[in-house]
Amino acid sequence: MTKASDSSNPNSGTGDPSGSGQNPSTAQDVRLEANELLRLAAEAANVYWWQLDLATTITTYSPNTEQVVGRLPAETVEENLLLLHVEDRSLAAQAFSEAMENGTDRFSYQVRSIAIPNEIRWLTVTGTILRNEQGQPYRIIGLTQNTTPTEKAQQALQAEQDRQTFLLQLSDTLHPLADPLAIQAAATQMTMAHLAADRCYYCEIEGDVATIRCDAYRSDLHSIAATYSLSDSPVFKTLSQAGFPLVVADAHTTELMDEPLRQLSIQLTILAFINVPVIKQGQLVGNFCITQCAPRVWTAPEVRLLQEVAQRTWAAVEQGRAEMALRESEKLFRLTIEAARVGTWDWNLVPNEVVWNEEHFRLFGMPPQPNPVSPKLYFDHVHPYDRDRVGNLLQAAIDSKGVFDTEFCALLDGGAQRWMSGYGRVTAEADGRSTRISGVMFDIEERRRAEDALREANRRKDEFLALLAHELRNPMATLSNTLRMLELTGGQHPIHTLSRSVRLMQQEVAHLVRLVDDLLDVSRISQGKIALVMERLDLVSLLSEVIEATGPQFTAVGKILSVALPDEQPNAVSLYVSGDSARLRQVVSNLLHNALKFTTQQGHVWLSLAQQGEEAVLRVGDNGIGIPPHELVRIFEMFAQVDTSLGRSQGGLGLGLTLVHELVGLHGGRVEASSLGLGQGSEFVVYLPLLPQPRPELVPDSMADLSNSVGHRLLIIDDNVEAGESLAMLLEVMDYTVATAISGQQGIQVAEQFRPTVILCDISMPGLDGYQTCRLIRAAPWGQSIVLIALTGYGQEEDKRRTKSAGFDAHLVKPIDITALSQLLAELPPPR
Ligand code: ADP
Repeated sequence: MTKASDSSNPNSGTGDPSGSGQNPSTAQDVRLEANELLRLAAEAANVYWWQLDLATTITTYSPNTEQVVGRLPAETVEENLLLLHVEDRSLAAQAFSEAMENGTDRFSYQVRSIAIPNEIRWLTVTGTILRNEQGQPYRIIGLTQNTTPTEKAQQALQAEQDRQTFLLQLSDTLHPLADPLAIQAAATQMTMAHLAADRCYYCEIEGDVATIRCDAYRSDLHSIAATYSLSDSPVFKTLSQAGFPLVVADAHTTELMDEPLRQLSIQLTILAFINVPVIKQGQLVGNFCITQCAPRVWTAPEVRLLQEVAQRTWAAVEQGRAEMALRESEKLFRLTIEAARVGTWDWNLVPNEVVWNEEHFRLFGMPPQPNPVSPKLYFDHVHPYDRDRVGNLLQAAIDSKGVFDTEFCALLDGGAQRWMSGYGRVTAEADGRSTRISGVMFDIEERRRAEDALREANRRKDEFLALLAHELRNPMATLSNTLRMLELTGGQHPIHTLSRSVRLMQQEVAHLVRLVDDLLDVSRISQGKIALVMERLDLVSLLSEVIEATGPQFTAVGKILSVALPDEQPNAVSLYVSGDSARLRQVVSNLLHNALKFTTQQGHVWLSLAQQGEEAVLRVGDNGIGIPPHELVRIFEMFAQVDTSLGRSQGGLGLGLTLVHELVGLHGGRVEASSLGLGQGSEFVVYLPLLPQPRPELVPDSMADLSNSVGHRLLIIDDNVEAGESLAMLLEVMDYTVATAISGQQGIQVAEQFRPTVILCDISMPGLDGYQTCRLIRAAPWGQSIVLIALTGYGQEEDKRRTKSAGFDAHLVKPIDITALSQLLAELPPPR
């Protein structure tokens, strides 16, 4: 049961709560006054009060209830509940139970009343539960207030909701974008549409330069994206820098704009705008601007919204830039990793899974597989020999949260083995334990090979130096002993005769000269400085000459040299090559020399020459000590020797075959070595390209007529007194008249008086060197017709050119080959 109480007696149904025995008229007046006040207050607050008797469920309402709710309350509690929004009907009982349970006996809740069709009124109910002396609840008294927002408040609420929705949409739109331009385009487009404006742009500011990269504009307008200067708009600049939004309703009339800016705005049909600056770390970094082609009065919420949008746009642009930079640097990083062929690995220790990049699979000779993989896959590719060590190192890095750094031998799919470098470090940990270790792996096979080669070269260099010392010491010891002996005996010893001693010394000097020549040749070849004097050569005659010269060495030690050359009859086809005769002789004699050296007493050496297709094939075989198969591959390398022990008897520096190989190569040919093994003899085969055309007949060189030379007067200029004098003695023995001088100056003086027909002049001399001496002699009236021969340690083409241009007629390399000198002298016309 429900009844509305009498408006004049709000306490009806409850009796007089005061129960006072006051003068009724006065008390009534006071009560009336209080009631009136209460009514007025209730009206003003849009609130009514009620009480519910829990025993009878009768609810009593204050008289203004209808006014607050919009209609009279229904008869029963149940009926009244039906006047509430369906979702809110259980709230009263719920609030009541909670208040009972938590002992506060007070509650408050909000419900929507649908008492009036098509209208929702928000009611805020506050109640208190009253209990009797036994603590049993018997009544609830409460206040219900109409808290439905007013229309203005609703509009404000709606506006706020719209604003939140817009900002949410903006965030959702910008979130996935990374390209700063796309972000600016989306933000300006959305804002323009939301505020029903004509144009919107975000401009980035650096110093005085404002750059609009992209703008949104009404379809009948055009873009104003460009760079603008702020320098002639000081007011605008100052306002922006101070962070104040500039709100212009009409560009024509505003006083806030600098004149140039006003002109520009009008020109761009921007008659109204809101410009919101973005300040970061005290610096103006951007402006967000919304514009209208006609005057427009902007509202404060619009300005606030634009401020919000400006901040979000800036943040999104910055984040986009950072992400792009990150992506760019990641791309670069990936490219670097790819180019450097680096495998990457990332081992998550918690699920015990590893992620490899594609290169990592490739380095192990595998096609890329789906990730993650098991760590076992890695260990399966570490050579069993290295597996424990690598495993221990990795475990140690994990345990110590440190670094793993090692080189190991990898077993590739397909069976190959390659050296890898592995590096990693712990990159995450939890509860004091490593949870992740990441790193790289790359192939270091080439580096290891280069290092091995370097080590090997270094070892060979040391070996070579020891060998060189040994090789030089032997002949020098012989020379010095023999000289000492000659000094003691004056060459009169019956056994160690002078001629024997001289022969011995000649042999040793020849040996030394050969060693030095070989060394110089190899060094010139390796520096690409050797120049071949190419001519058309008949290999058969060249070989015949070499054999003629070398043959006696074989006979002398009782070894056999068998020769098989193509028929040398006039009608037979000869084998012609384009070559440097001296160098090809050197090739053949080196091979013969080795064959002689590396055969034992019953040595037998075979030399043959034949044509095979378009090549001449020269074979030098022997039945000597042979070469083990593994040495055959390196036998042509510099300093390579099968037996490197210093005690070996054969001597040599391991350069002969290098020279053969290089010289044959320079002739466009190749050389191969073969041997069945130690004690099985060896064979060296030289292939040289043949010249296609038969050669024209060559006229053999005329033999030098030594008699011509007799009568020449020779002057030797050399600062090395011994060298000069010994040469002078030799030439005197050969019947020349010889004078000597020990410097350029002295040489010129001597020459002026002695008037030699030939001057042999050293080049490297202190004071006047050979070149200057020669020039001065040539400049003298008596010096024109003298034959000037340069004596020098340098025999390159370049050296010869230099002596020639200084005025020398000939160039001899020291130590002087006396036969070559006498040949030269013999070829001179007789002196006048
Ligand atoms: P060298 O003879 O000065 O040591 P080479 O370059 O001529 O230098 O030869 C290199 C090495 O090749 C020799 O030391 C020797 O071990 C091996 N060798 C060369 N020729 C023969 C050969 N005919 N029989 C066996 N071994 C040879």
